[in-house]
Amino acid sequence: MNNISNIPERVLQVLDGLFTEGRCPHALLIDGSGSLQREQVSRLAAKMIVCSNQSRTPCGSCENCRKADENIHPDIITLEKPSDKKYYVKADVKKLVGDAYLTPNEAQKKVYILPELQNMNEESQNLLLKILEEPPVYTTFVLTSQTANAVIGTVLSRVTRVRLGSTEDVEYSEKAIEVVRELCKAVSSHREYDKIKATAPLDGNKKLTAEVLTLFIAVLRDAIALKNQGKAILSDFSRESTELSTRQTLKKLLDVYDAVSGIHQSLENNPNYTLLTAVLCARI
Ligand SMILES: [Zn+2]
Repeated sequence: MNNISNIPERVLQVLDGLFTEGRCPHALLIDGSGSLQREQVSRLAAKMIVCSNQSRTPCGSCENCRKADENIHPDIITLEKPSDKKYYVKADVKKLVGDAYLTPNEAQKKVYILPELQNMNEESQNLLLKILEEPPVYTTFVLTSQTANAVIGTVLSRVTRVRLGSTEDVEYSEKAIEVVRELCKAVSSHREYDKIKATAPLDGNKKLTAEVLTLFIAVLRDAIALKNQGKAILSDFSRESTELSTRQTLKKLLDVYDAVSGIHQSLENNPNYTLLTAVLCARI
């Protein structure tokens, strides 16, 4: 189960960095790549959290590591969506939030693994937010998701992201890159004209709109991560995301992120692009 040979070196380095000198992030979000790799990385992270050897985690030889390997560690708790349900059950999430305040059994910390958050609706994610905002010192979370877009902005702002696949590495058109840069400037501008000008190229152009929104969401995510933790695995728009994070409040960034994610989701079933462009113009 803990076959780390399938995990890319870059990801192992990122995890190592997060756990140096006995540090331990209170919540991780592992996104991208396939579900199997997400599962492997989440199990490895859980093992690193419970391991008793703080200078070299996971040591692989302590009692905590051994039990993690055998999937019998009492402080590694996985909550999943029932196989016959479309989404996580709200009552299960509520119970987890209550249990999260109980102290660990054997390790210094306990870990809740919540796989595939794309299967958790907004209502349940909001329940989770409460504990993510102020978790007990001994409680940690390892979340996974197909994409970070499936995670609500407020949850996203509380977690440290570990990206597996580099979905942002695909080639984007020059035009899309130019529009994203203009959109970033427009967010920081108080002039209505700048917002209209930045969104105008999208009017009626479905392909460009999809491309631009995907990129814009990635930039906003980076800006939120920078604002919140001072670090991020940056997209190619590091200048723009840094600028957004210094000029904007976290609330404004979250508002724009949620608005843009919402428009991105409705893009598939809403053929009225003129309306979507107008909504985007009003929300940035
Ligand atoms: Zn160990």
